[in-house]
Amino acid sequence: MLSELQNELNERAAQGLLRQRRTLDSPQSPHIVVDGKSYLSFCSNDYLGLANHPQLVIALQQGAQQWGVGAGAAHLVSGHFEPHHRLEQELAAFVRKPAALLFSTGYMANLGAVQALVGKGDTVFADKLNHASLNDAMLLSRAEMKRYRHNDIAQLAALLEQTTSRRKLIITDAVFSMDGDLAPLPELLALCEQYDAWLLVDDAHGFGVLGEQGRGSLFNFKSSPPPLLQRGGHVDAHVENPPLQKHVLSLSKWGRGDLHSPRIIYMATLGKAAGVFGAFVAAEQVVIDTLVNQARSYVYTTAAPPALACAVSASLQLIEQGDALREHLRGLIAQLHNGLAGLPWELMPSDTAIQPLLVGDNQAALALSEGLRERGIWVAAIRPPTVPPGTARLRITLSAAHSENDVEQLIGALHELAQ
Ligand SMILES: *Cc1c(COP(=O)(O)O)cnc(C)c1O
Repeated sequence: MLSELQNELNERAAQGLLRQRRTLDSPQSPHIVVDGKSYLSFCSNDYLGLANHPQLVIALQQGAQQWGVGAGAAHLVSGHFEPHHRLEQELAAFVRKPAALLFSTGYMANLGAVQALVGKGDTVFADKLNHASLNDAMLLSRAEMKRYRHNDIAQLAALLEQTTSRRKLIITDAVFSMDGDLAPLPELLALCEQYDAWLLVDDAHGFGVLGEQGRGSLFNFKSSPPPLLQRGGHVDAHVENPPLQKHVLSLSKWGRGDLHSPRIIYMATLGKAAGVFGAFVAAEQVVIDTLVNQARSYVYTTAAPPALACAVSASLQLIEQGDALREHLRGLIAQLHNGLAGLPWELMPSDTAIQPLLVGDNQAALALSEGLRERGIWVAAIRPPTVPPGTARLRITLSAAHSENDVEQLIGALHELAQ
């Protein structure tokens, strides 16, 4: 068996697909030390530069001082702490949903949410470029799976039309993780209303970055927000929850661009722009109660350390006040676009912090990444099966922690390598 495994690894290596880890000897930042050498890095998801923010470090330290290190139990046993509970209320208020539930990771949140909400006899509709965790979630749920071409609303409508399942759930990345483009959320929601389906939005790359005050992708479309569910700094537990149909109608005055429907189940991660770790699902109270009872990746796992929740609460304040960071990030994105025009490789169409440079061939993508590394710049080459065959790419990610000079260095190095 060992030699069989070794042969499989050798085969991967021959195709330029062998995955290897590098060890960071410094905190996450645009300037990292890897295996003892300094690099300018463009491959973290730390979009706002919060992963090593002094206020978060202090919040984590104080959290550990007050609450210790380990949660010691699952949430439903004796592992649900006050900082977890408070953070759930803060997150729900921030994204203007009635309730929220913390998960240990985004991967687990997706597995848990899909598996809890649909099963045999139901149908899940999934974009073909969805994150691996949504694909795995769909498999685990045992619902029927229908995958539609990337952002192809017409094909999705045709699939919905053919389906007679009891429950229909559309699942999509809001910002596609390897492409950086956006899902047409208003159109997806309109289909949900037409076909009485639910929409699970995975906003791992939009939360903290997109929408007013970083509230995420649901706030990134032109529409008026609903009234705040927050009163006096706390979510009012007695906010009325009208039945689904009534709620939709009462909100329909916000128009087609409105993304505040009870049909939307919102998932975001806390280890990317938020700079910490974990994830949450925000939705109607009855959906959250269902997850508490049925999501196996919630029920059967130890709660995350409460000190992490303290750090996320601090992060949420920085996100809310982070307009200047988001403005700077948008400036860097524009700078990169202008700077890379005319290269033999093209940036994929994206306005987000994820700026993939399409190379095509696996070995060529690796060679380009290697060439940058020799120049002290670190950008990950992304190859199949993470992306479709023939679309290997450099996944350049920008962060508000980058300076214009950092981006200029990347632009210069890529122009050198193009010659
Ligand atoms: C990173 C990511 C996840 C997983 O989140 P983790 O907290 O890292 O487990 C889920 N969905 C998308 C789109 C992601 O990019």
